[in-house]
Amino acid sequence: MWLGDREMREDGAPVTDAVGSVADLVRRAGEIPAESEYPTMDALLRRFEELEARHPELVASDQIATSRLGEPIIRYRIEGGDRSNIVVGGVHPNEPVGSWTAIRLAEALCDDAELRDALDATWHLIPTIDPDGARLNEAWFRQPHDRAAYARHFYRPARHEQIEWTFPFAHKDGFFDQVLPETIGLMRVIDETRPDLYVSLHNAETGGVYFYLSHGSHDLIESLHELTRSRGLPLDVGEPEAPWMQAFAAAVYGDGGLAAAYDYLESMGLDPRAVQGGASPGEYSKKYDTFCLVAELPLWMHPDAADTSPSDESYADLLSRTAADAQRTRTTIAAMLERARPSLTLRTPFLAAVEDYLRAAGGAYETADERALQPESQRAATVAERFSCEEVVRVIRLRNAGLLLRALEAETGTGRAPAELRRLRGEAADLLDAWSAEASADTRVTGVPIADVVGVQYGAVLAGAVYVRDRAAARIR
Ligand SMILES: [Zn+2]
Repeated sequence: MWLGDREMREDGAPVTDAVGSVADLVRRAGEIPAESEYPTMDALLRRFEELEARHPELVASDQIATSRLGEPIIRYRIEGGDRSNIVVGGVHPNEPVGSWTAIRLAEALCDDAELRDALDATWHLIPTIDPDGARLNEAWFRQPHDRAAYARHFYRPARHEQIEWTFPFAHKDGFFDQVLPETIGLMRVIDETRPDLYVSLHNAETGGVYFYLSHGSHDLIESLHELTRSRGLPLDVGEPEAPWMQAFAAAVYGDGGLAAAYDYLESMGLDPRAVQGGASPGEYSKKYDTFCLVAELPLWMHPDAADTSPSDESYADLLSRTAADAQRTRTTIAAMLERARPSLTLRTPFLAAVEDYLRAAGGAYETADERALQPESQRAATVAERFSCEEVVRVIRLRNAGLLLRALEAETGTGRAPAELRRLRGEAADLLDAWSAEASADTRVTGVPIADVVGVQYGAVLAGAVYVRDRAAARIR
């Protein structure tokens, strides 16, 4: 890490606990108050309104977009220096860790002039970019470590309805321009500020911690690893979320993007147009040389996520076995949806999300089968790889059984659903219960304290801000 003059003692030695040093970030990550739930959208927005009222000299807000259901989406601008840093919460509305991170960051920037000055940036914080979607998850925010409650009240939009994946895209034969109003608002903020740092506040479900960066930086990666260790969380060293992700270090990946996905499928001899949806904000902001950072913190952790010892199964067999499990899951969900189809009258977001999963899922199995055939897959899988491949199956089961149940429930709630649909709702509820019980059977899964996930994510945002500050200073030199 490059150290500015203010961080050197008179004898020239670096002050190791200066603001922005690893020791300082670790200390800040450890000072998050304990919380037992995630804030509702109204509670989140209220915290920001109160902050603006307390610090009118530092904080200004404006509306950047209107959600599809008519809610104003607000950006809070916190004055603090020359650079522009954007932090966006709720990019995936089932990922609320960032709500507490955004609150912590905003309050620290307002209350701590030393931190604000050291980071030397004006911050653009959007507490939630998808309030419509987040409000559909609120029912589980009060039980953040109950995985059955999570699945029962889960909502994650279809890809073409996710702000994170609806930026314009044009690559070879791939094209997307169905940009959402929320995404247009975010594009305008990016174009207006030409940010040095862009952070999407995501989180993961079960496993360990991992990160996405625009490019690898040794010092930044060290900071991220140290922050993770300091809160006692495992790094997730199993499968990356997608096989085209470039690994910079343990649990640290390049931010991939849709063009990389397209090229990967093409190189495998598969149809790259199976990749649907648009680009990410990271891809969009590359024209401004923006550094993008994502810190994926798990709601639940599992020791296997960090275990690189060999398992008793070959990697090829693991890929084939879990792809077959996933394929069976898809068949089960598709069959129930087809039986319900004649009685469905409502285009709910839950139905759109299940349909999108069924459309997208086919390509994933082809990829796994193709990879299983390759010579480099004829080795022992690690315990971490086994965990993450099996976890993918649990995730798609719980998510899609939950979404299907909510779609059917919306119909029966009208009072006009025929008996067959009511029976199907019961079957979907039983299926979700069975898959929830299966997922909960592993007693080594533990809920991660909110203060720890928020601490690491908050520390990672600060580490990213230190990185772009030092990068800019090094260029001036
Ligand atoms: Zn996400």
